[in-house]
Amino acid sequence: MEFISTRGKVEKIGFLDAVLMGLADDGGLLIPSEIPQVSASKLKEWSQLSYQDLAYEIFSLYIGEEIPKNELKQLIAESYATFRDPEVTPVRKITDKLYVLELFHGPTFAFKDVALQFLGNLYAYISKKQNEIINILGATSGDTGASAIEGVRGKEGIRICILHPHQKVSKVQELQMTTVHDENVMNLAVKGTFDDCQGMIKDLFADTVFKNQYHLRAINSINFARILAQTVYYFYAYFKVQNADEQKVNFSVPTGNFGDIFAGYLAKRMGLPVNKLILATNENNILERFIKEGVYKPGQFHMTYSPSMDIQVASNFERYLYYLLDENAELVASLMAQFKKEGQITINQENLAKTQELFAAHGVMGAECLQTISAYYQQHQYLLDPHTACGVAAFEQCNGSDEVCITLSTAHPAKFNESIERCNIEQTYPEQIKQLFDKPQYQQVVDNDQDEVVELLKKFFV
Ligand SMILES: *Cc1c(COP(=O)(O)O)cnc(C)c1O
Repeated sequence: MEFISTRGKVEKIGFLDAVLMGLADDGGLLIPSEIPQVSASKLKEWSQLSYQDLAYEIFSLYIGEEIPKNELKQLIAESYATFRDPEVTPVRKITDKLYVLELFHGPTFAFKDVALQFLGNLYAYISKKQNEIINILGATSGDTGASAIEGVRGKEGIRICILHPHQKVSKVQELQMTTVHDENVMNLAVKGTFDDCQGMIKDLFADTVFKNQYHLRAINSINFARILAQTVYYFYAYFKVQNADEQKVNFSVPTGNFGDIFAGYLAKRMGLPVNKLILATNENNILERFIKEGVYKPGQFHMTYSPSMDIQVASNFERYLYYLLDENAELVASLMAQFKKEGQITINQENLAKTQELFAAHGVMGAECLQTISAYYQQHQYLLDPHTACGVAAFEQCNGSDEVCITLSTAHPAKFNESIERCNIEQTYPEQIKQLFDKPQYQQVVDNDQDEVVELLKKFFV
């Protein structure tokens, strides 16, 4: 499979080069030159597979011969051996209409592990095989950082620096990142928001001289490998809830950077019978407004109970835009340039109708989020984390009465006890999380200043 840029100015490259490039050199995002198609009979075959075997089948469609079969199988086996549930991403039935896809059984208790355990191993594989220097630079709203660090800590040939917004992540998120004391890990706490951190990273990756000199590698969901790894659980969950009449299902997805829901879009485009993709956001509802009104325009930043979704500029949105505009890279490039200049993009009525055919959206306010946690705890004895609660609240708002919906549970409630406590619910922490509170922390607090960050990076990266 070959990969191209949403802005059309990058020569076709293979999968491994696309992973290493991260952000496309023309500032766009990398996507497959064609979306592989999965037939109905293939779907039937796949429905019987284990998570790992299903991942192998899907990955193979994009990776081709670039990684030999046995080595790819080995990478997948290692990546999901760290999960606490034998099914990797089990599905729980809550009601006849609602299923929850639990994506939080990996090492850091959030869905990011599904992709980042794989990407970490993939980077180690490339480093060894191609003698590549891998200096990972990433920004996190909380979960990506811990998960990426867990994916590569102590691995030879790899260094990782993670920027997070100082005091704007949950306590457990902060501890998971900063209690790691490996030489190849650096945590920078930036006095700013996640958008500030992500903006800095985007600028550094767009500076191709700096990027190539320091061998910068991306772990944010601009990296196509992450999207790919996340398509697997859409298929897996669909097979788990599938009944005899092969009805389409909805997916409700707690959304920030549009990475996870884009993986669902890709799964649908591959042939998975998806009816609606329900996009759940919080008070930071740029994407809800886009889907309802066709205007993509960042608003005021809010701190919420679901901090991993406190994002205004969704870096994966451009991938969807590309497909919405019938793969017209020139048009995408001009719209993104306009966005940079004027701060907004407006699509026409026809494209808005096309978007609304597939997507529904609901921005969940704080009170509604907490009410949903309380209600499901009382009525179903199921404790939702605040991100998943947004997903469930959006399901309630947007799901048709005769439709079945799978809500993605993106984190374990123990990661966000600040919100759970507000519902007067007392939870017991899993042992791995309890232990974090006794460990020393390693992080540097820095100003929201690109130059200061660059100086630290130059010292840290080899
Ligand atoms: C990252 C994250 C999200 C948002 O996912 P995107 O791919 O950025 O849309 C939602 N919930 C949790 C818990 C997360 O960590």
